[in-house]
Amino acid sequence: MQNTLKSLNQIVIKIGSSSLTHESGLIDLWKMESLVKQIANLFNSGKDVIVVSSGAIAAGIGKMKLTEKPKAMPEKQAAAAVGQSTLMHMYEKFFSEYGITVAQVLLTKEDMYEESRRAHCVNALSALINHRIIPIINENDVVAIDEIKVGDNDTLSAEVCKMINFDNLIILSDINGVYNKDPRKHPDAEMIPLIDRLEILDAIDAGDAGSTVGTGGMQTKFKAARIIASTSKTMFIINSGQKDVLNRMFSGESFGTFFDFRNL
Ligand code: GLU
Repeated sequence: MQNTLKSLNQIVIKIGSSSLTHESGLIDLWKMESLVKQIANLFNSGKDVIVVSSGAIAAGIGKMKLTEKPKAMPEKQAAAAVGQSTLMHMYEKFFSEYGITVAQVLLTKEDMYEESRRAHCVNALSALINHRIIPIINENDVVAIDEIKVGDNDTLSAEVCKMINFDNLIILSDINGVYNKDPRKHPDAEMIPLIDRLEILDAIDAGDAGSTVGTGGMQTKFKAARIIASTSKTMFIINSGQKDVLNRMFSGESFGTFFDFRNL
């Protein structure tokens, strides 16, 4: 595992809303600062990093002092517009403390699935990476309404990883990894440290494998894993609530579930 991690040089890191915000939706500064520091350290070790960050709608809800997630589309769009700039402001602040420049990249479904737009997108991301800038990607929730959305950032991050041909996707979430059954309902549930064949995924009921407060839950994480499998790359699901988890993982400790599809 340690050798595997050392050999992964191009990493997409997906940060879920729950890894960045309080329940109120306001940004949890400790959580965000700690993640930024660990990502900055990884980046300084020479790796190429792309961040896919959720949290725009959650941060917008917090800032607009709404009591719950809006149901009406224009309200959701408004929350995303408010929250996205709040998010970027904080990323900019924390990353700049470590001398790192970041760039906001907002994508829509067409950017991923339409050939010429996809090519432009890859060119832009490559230019940023060549300049040693960390792109911070989110779906453009202000203009992409539900019917025409990717809809969740697990899928979006896997598509980004595929389109830019990076080695590895790390999904930071509020669950420890993939379990054989829902650990909240079954005390004997066991976490699966390694998934290296699609048959292992097929045998697990995603609806019963533990879920998160974010948009996706385990279903979208499995969808992401299948996209990663289609490119024979690797993916991790780890709990960002564990202290210094990224740093410790790259120093040799084992966390979460490792999806190794390199030999497919
Ligand atoms: N794009 C959404 C946001 O920033 C998050 C989607 C997701 O949770 O996967 O709020």
